[in-house]
Amino acid sequence: MSDDVLVVAEIRDGAIKKVALELVGEGRRIAGELGGNLLAVALGHGMGDALAPLAHYGADKVFVADDPALANYTAEGYSNVLAGLIGELEPALVLLGATTQGKDLAPRLAARLAAGLASDCTGFAVQDGELHITRPIYAGKASATVREAARPYMATVRPNIFAAAEPDSSREAPMESMSVDAGVIRAKVVEMIKEAGERVELTEADIIVSGGRGLKEPENFALIEELAAVLGAAVGASRAAVDAGWKDHSYQVGQTGKVVTPTLYIACGISGAIQHLAGMKTSKYIFAINKDPDAPIFKMADYGIVGDLFKVVPVLTEEFKKMMAER
Ligand SMILES: Cc1cc2nc3c(=O)[nH]c(=O)nc-3n(C[C@H](O)[C@H](O)[C@H](O)COP(=O)(O)OP(=O)(O)OC[C@H]3O[C@@H](n4cnc5c(N)ncnc54)[C@H](O)[C@@H]3O)c2cc1C
Repeated sequence: MSDDVLVVAEIRDGAIKKVALELVGEGRRIAGELGGNLLAVALGHGMGDALAPLAHYGADKVFVADDPALANYTAEGYSNVLAGLIGELEPALVLLGATTQGKDLAPRLAARLAAGLASDCTGFAVQDGELHITRPIYAGKASATVREAARPYMATVRPNIFAAAEPDSSREAPMESMSVDAGVIRAKVVEMIKEAGERVELTEADIIVSGGRGLKEPENFALIEELAAVLGAAVGASRAAVDAGWKDHSYQVGQTGKVVTPTLYIACGISGAIQHLAGMKTSKYIFAINKDPDAPIFKMADYGIVGDLFKVVPVLTEEFKKMMAER
């Protein structure tokens, strides 16, 4: 068993996901405290130069599983390859992003390896050579610290919790091509259908503009979308807006929707019910616009405007447009 930390670097559309670079930074810090190295592994097909940032952001060595069978993510293929590598490397800790793919892959892999898994983690500490991992529980009302029971230990980590290190483009790391045996893959990806229009993924977005029942009509979501477009933000919604059929469930933020951790969360016409807060309270800054000064969202907000969103949001959109143009 080694003291290394292994990051499973997720590739999407030929590029490394931002969360993977955040994990490389945090994983490197943990590996340093454990006395090991930071290793990364990327699975896919035709990844070529796309993997260079892993070294720039701090990986000591990169394992590459490049094979047509891995071109599209499948839980079976990816876990077969990773189980083999982890069995060989015996790292202390395996880190994956708490993305759709990471959340699907990590439990399967942990079961294969009979390893412990902490999901949706937000903090890591090494005490007396032992890993202590923080994760929210009870829909974010409390946080628990779990200790590794045995190694390797596995964790999925929320995007945007850790800042990626400053990249050093002169930094290089050895790349080792793995011989790939993806094993039996019973599920085949036949086709990937992208949603119309480029949409920033909610769980990874740096800025989110969310709308709630205060918008009153589905058409009024256009106000939210315009502000989001100016800021390069993702659009979110409360469950009330989703239940009303104004947005589909993939937009829902909260206990029964997505858990998001942006730098800035702008809540427009959202009251701040506990179930909504469960999905966004770990945002770095919360900015609420609500006409009710007693709305619970203001207890959580860092900034707020008490006012009519139909007046406030268009003004914000115009002002941000000017600011962005001046940048
Ligand atoms: C088991 C369970 C799970 C749930 N999961 C989720 C979840 O995942 N996500 C979630 O969001 N909810 C969830 N809910 C629902 C949650 O309890 C609330 O009902 C919901 O969040 C309310 O949505 P809202 O804030 O948009 O609507 P409301 O609570 O109706 O709030 C609308 C707000 O808009 C303001 N407003 C109205 N007009 C204007 C205006 N012109 N300008 C400015 N402000 C205005 C009002 O003052 C009000 O504060 C769950 C509930 C249960 C029981």
